[in-house]
Amino acid sequence: MFMVNTMACKEICIFHKAKSNGKDRYSNNQKRCQICEIFIKWEGLWCPCCGYMLRTHPRNNKSHKKANSLKNRH
Ligand SMILES: [Zn+2]
Ligand SMILES: [Zn+2]
Repeated sequence: MFMVNTMACKEICIFHKAKSNGKDRYSNNQKRCQICEIFIKWEGLWCPCCGYMLRTHPRNNKSHKKANSLKNRH
């Protein structure tokens, strides 16, 4: 229980849920929230629901996987 309780899904994202068009959701102005595990249509950079930063681009395989795991140290 560190920062987890401040970044939890409050089910607000459901109201902003993006419709699936089958492919290329990022380019369709949709963003993914890793916390809510949902695609939403939202102008801002941050999830209106949990406050976590939204993904606006598909995953980039060649950048810093290691840096990411450092961030999650226990
Ligand atoms: Zn949510
Ligand atoms: Zn969220």
